[in-house]
Amino acid sequence: MMLADVAHPPGVVGLSCGELARYTEFHACFDAVLAPPGSVKRYGIGYDTASNSNDLIRDMRPKDEWVWIMDDDHAFTGDLLIKLLDRQVDCVLPLYFQRKPPFWPVAYSVRNPDGSCQYVTPEETRGKTGLFPVVSAGKAGVLIRRPVLTKLAGGECACPYAYTLEEESRHRAHQRDCPWATAAWFEHKGLIGEDHVFFDKVLQAGFQPYVDLDRDLDHITPFKIRVARTPEGEYVPEVDLYNQVRISLRMVTRPGDA
Ligand SMILES: [Zn+2]
Repeated sequence: MMLADVAHPPGVVGLSCGELARYTEFHACFDAVLAPPGSVKRYGIGYDTASNSNDLIRDMRPKDEWVWIMDDDHAFTGDLLIKLLDRQVDCVLPLYFQRKPPFWPVAYSVRNPDGSCQYVTPEETRGKTGLFPVVSAGKAGVLIRRPVLTKLAGGECACPYAYTLEEESRHRAHQRDCPWATAAWFEHKGLIGEDHVFFDKVLQAGFQPYVDLDRDLDHITPFKIRVARTPEGEYVPEVDLYNQVRISLRMVTRPGDA
């Protein structure tokens, strides 16, 4: 993370991740994130993604006006956070697609009575740019302003903040009666994922989440290039995305190619 000379308040650049690191390209992107002066980078580490995200929020200092939660399987440009801050809205994330078929956008425009959600369709976004209101989305890349988190927690954190430089590198402790000590901004509810639950809480609290159609995240996924043999006797490369998802490529030799 690098601090940029921009007119935005400080915040927490947070990574929600498992115990083992994954993609080098992600870390190259995360290292190159431009953030407002005074911002800090935090890690929420563990097997429970809801708990990881809550840990990042709990780490916010009194002066932090926002948290940006990132997952570790994405690639993006260094100015992404600044561009999302420029939107000046309570809750916004970039556009990205699932890393598995059918590659829907990780953004939802309809919430079903059982709490599940329906993907934003190509027809809904065709020809549009800028902020697109959603009822739910993924949590990767979501920028959340402090008033949202305070309202969802049921109150502001008023714990004293007098950490030494050494103590600042540790997770922040809250007093027992602080609403932020036990707040569950993200939580699983039955089969409903923690991000659907979070975005529902945001809407119920009177805030509108948006996907920024002008900003995007690449979604990194492992694949194999396999040798496939066609009925015509051709040998063609095949992209194997696992789970029986294979995309065969037809190689064409152009006139003049060696
Ligand atoms: Zn507190």
